[in-house]
Amino acid sequence: MTQPEPTNTEDATSAATPSDRAPTHEHLRDTYGRSIDYLRISVTDKCNLRCVYCMPASGVPYRPHDELLRIEEIARFVRLAAREGIRRVRLTGGEPLVAKGIVDLIRQIKAIPEIEDIALTTNGALLPRLAPALKDAGLDRVNISLDTLDPAQFGRITRIGEIEGTLAGIDAALEYGFDPVKINCVVVRRLEQDVFGFARLSLDRPLHVRFIEYMPIGNDETRAHGALDPESATYDASLWGQSDVVPTSELIERINASAARAGMPGLEPASSDVPFGAGPACYWRFPDAAGTVGFISAMSNHFCSQCNRLRLTADGTIRPCLFSDDEYSVREALRSGSDDDVLAIYRAALAHKPEEHGLIDGTARFMSQIGG
Ligand code: SAM
Ligand code: SF4
Repeated sequence: MTQPEPTNTEDATSAATPSDRAPTHEHLRDTYGRSIDYLRISVTDKCNLRCVYCMPASGVPYRPHDELLRIEEIARFVRLAAREGIRRVRLTGGEPLVAKGIVDLIRQIKAIPEIEDIALTTNGALLPRLAPALKDAGLDRVNISLDTLDPAQFGRITRIGEIEGTLAGIDAALEYGFDPVKINCVVVRRLEQDVFGFARLSLDRPLHVRFIEYMPIGNDETRAHGALDPESATYDASLWGQSDVVPTSELIERINASAARAGMPGLEPASSDVPFGAGPACYWRFPDAAGTVGFISAMSNHFCSQCNRLRLTADGTIRPCLFSDDEYSVREALRSGSDDDVLAIYRAALAHKPEEHGLIDGTARFMSQIGG
């Protein structure tokens, strides 16, 4: 079946209209005319889970403490990036909620007048404890990663996690009024997830379920270091293969076929009144559902021409493209340089943002190190 054309994408329906985003500064656009107003920051390379699609079973060696950016250094970077046109920030990791000072960082970013939106991507386990403080500090929205509703499968996917923590995190996100609350689900064919059961999460509560195509991030490193653990060979990020990617068209077909078998209407394009965000997802919904079902087709449908973002890694490098290992270290400039030193590196990174990524089958760093 061919995939129906979605009526909207996050870019097309985000709060800022194209004219709102018209460049007010020469560095707002990159070499290819794309407006770069979105910064994703990995605040730590540490994590309290070990998801199979994100890192190898042996884990990822953590950087020494003094090689990681401090909270005030990250805040300084955001203040300067805001002068270059950054308007939205997402904090990620590793697991951002294990980072000491995360609440303080959000408070500092919230105080930057140009920043209109602060979001967080988390596995949710620490949200029940931290949600009130995050809300009070000014966090606007959360994405929570959850790949299955089956507790045993959750344990296998995260290697060390328990599903109750993430489910409680979702409850806390709704209770404390984060809006929207999105659920990120990475689909890996050999994991055989129940995607229809998962999409049904959007029926009763305002949850925006997003299926993400499995990306080949990090497996170069594993190959280079021979870190593959034979015991876990069937579940390991280092074993990414094209056959594990489930394209969006197939997912929609599977969800609709299951819905028909259950006597339910299938997905229809979501209307544009849903608060989407700054990313490349396409949104659908079951009729009358409280939430939506989104698809991020990074592998089957490259969205490079709409790319609006830069990344800052926990160890202080600017990464213009998730899929390219081309990075620009700004750590020393943030520690001992002038604002102009930092901005010169920012501009160099922006100038080298590639027009598009080619067909890749790996990167030197894992997702937890880059910040997904
Ligand atoms: N620890 C937090 C979490 O899991 O939400 C934030 C960091 S995690 C690296 C950010 C996002 O990247 C998560 O939604 C995760 O599912 C996704 N991710 C990790 N590895 C991936 C891969 N190989 N392909 C696609 N998405 C991936
Ligand atoms: Fe940790 Fe997030 Fe990677 Fe899972 S996806 S291992 S929670 S960083």
